[in-house]
Amino acid sequence: MQMPEQGRDWDEVSAEMIARGGGDAKWRDGKTAVYVFNAGEEIAEVQKEAYAAYMSENGLGPLAFPSLAQMEKDVISMGLGLLHGPDGATGAMTSGGTDSITMALKTARDYARANGRAKGKANIVLPFSAHLAFDKASHLMDIEVRRVPVREDGTYQADVAAMEAACDANTVMMVGSAPNFPHGIIDPIEALGEAAERKGVWLHVDACVGGYFAPFARMNGVPVPPFDFEVPAVHSMSADLHKYGYAAKGASTVLFRSDELYQHMPFDLNEWSGAPMKTPTLAGTRPGGAISAAWAVMNTLGVEGYRRLQGEVCATRERVEAGVKALGFEVLGKPMLGLIAFRHPEHHAFALYGEIYRRGWFTSVTKSPPSLHLMLSPKHADVIDQYLHDLEESMSAVAAGEARKVSGGSIRYS
Ligand SMILES: *Cc1c(COP(=O)(O)O)cnc(C)c1O
Repeated sequence: MQMPEQGRDWDEVSAEMIARGGGDAKWRDGKTAVYVFNAGEEIAEVQKEAYAAYMSENGLGPLAFPSLAQMEKDVISMGLGLLHGPDGATGAMTSGGTDSITMALKTARDYARANGRAKGKANIVLPFSAHLAFDKASHLMDIEVRRVPVREDGTYQADVAAMEAACDANTVMMVGSAPNFPHGIIDPIEALGEAAERKGVWLHVDACVGGYFAPFARMNGVPVPPFDFEVPAVHSMSADLHKYGYAAKGASTVLFRSDELYQHMPFDLNEWSGAPMKTPTLAGTRPGGAISAAWAVMNTLGVEGYRRLQGEVCATRERVEAGVKALGFEVLGKPMLGLIAFRHPEHHAFALYGEIYRRGWFTSVTKSPPSLHLMLSPKHADVIDQYLHDLEESMSAVAAGEARKVSGGSIRYS
């Protein structure tokens, strides 16, 4: 596209823009189980109005916009309140999980160096199931990544002993997920904490997808084991607001046990011709709307609202578990929150994925082992029976395809 010589009418541009979404995944109908968190129309309205109210303001300027500075403080304090942040715990809002993880790793590295550790090339020790954002951050900072295979006992949890053995004097961070994205499983954070303490290493809990879910699941009676600052060795956490916090996109939190740790995060920039600048995170300009929308959604939902929504999601996940087991699938490990992965002993997950996709569902898969993957939203309560029905049809279609291939002399999926 070339920029039009003369501007076009907004009515016309708007209509074209909306029409372009016609080919996108049908998330409004609940037909996605990745990328979008659909908590219904009312929350979407709050997101939109609250975002628009501070859309032009800039979180880079706390003196110009004390409103945003205070809303960010409130969001951090609400997050710390949910995640057992002790007195003096602190943090900042970032643009997303990758940003939060990058900043936590930078902080941990600088803290290690300030305390006489990591004199050689720094490294990070994490379970194979941890998010790729750690690799991206490590790449940026020239840090070695040590991914340790998860346990092979069917729990899909981090192998604590093997991770401990992988740590050395250059390890700046150990990671556990609560939960991990691929299997939706919470790592044994208490045991990781003990290992991290023995090694004198910073423990980060990546609760990007669970940080604003697990506390409410626990209030609803789900037996979530200690996974947050309640575990004394946890130095930092990442928890995304734009996932199960149901905030508008561009909002996450990075949290630290103490101000002493936090102080290794901000940049104080002085050496240039312009005015001095102090930035807490990677960003310069910070969208005010992402802050105000998160603040507004947290305040309109409240504990009660989140408990209700996360309860609905857990109930839907239980329906999925029962439904897929009845179809002969094995659920990977013991998911407790809103994510679930499952595989079939006969039909390859990627073949099933293709069939379910053809039936209008935009879902996901895992690679090791190959399985189907769902990240559930409150909206899925309305459509999960249809999904299970379409999954059963997909199995028949795959079986028929396999039968054809067998009669043709070759099997592709196995
Ligand atoms: C989503 C996610 C991330 C990355 O967050 P983005 O907001 O996509 O950058 C990191 N870790 C886990 C466990 C996640 O689910």
